[in-house]
Amino acid sequence: MDDPLPQRCLLCGATAGIRRDGQWHCAVCDWRVGDAPDPDLPPPRVDVVYYLRWRERIKIGTSHRPRQRLAAILHEELLAFEPGDRALEQRRHREFADLREGGEWFTADPRLLAHIAAVAGGIPPWDAYARWVADAYRR
Ligand SMILES: [Zn+2]
Repeated sequence: MDDPLPQRCLLCGATAGIRRDGQWHCAVCDWRVGDAPDPDLPPPRVDVVYYLRWRERIKIGTSHRPRQRLAAILHEELLAFEPGDRALEQRRHREFADLREGGEWFTADPRLLAHIAAVAGGIPPWDAYARWVADAYRR
């Protein structure tokens, strides 16, 4: 059960939270409300493999700055993020090599779509990303 937070989450900007152990936690990324990330530390690096749809094609790529990266790629829909870097991206490219149309673009075949649905796990991609960033801050 999510309730309105007394203040926006400082990490992801969400406005809903969960009260746990006498503390408010962000409903999206689970950051403890009121905690500020250490301003002396650089933001943690979180590498993701992204799945972007443009018409009947899907681009499988990787970035550690997905907001900037995705803004530069023409697409209709972000389908999922998967935590991982270049090595995982290369593995996915090999796994779906038979669907490759060129570059990092693949045919939106049911096998690829099933993989993406499993990766997404029903969680909106940016919510999942916010959670990984919060986890990285906590480490
Ligand atoms: Zn949050």
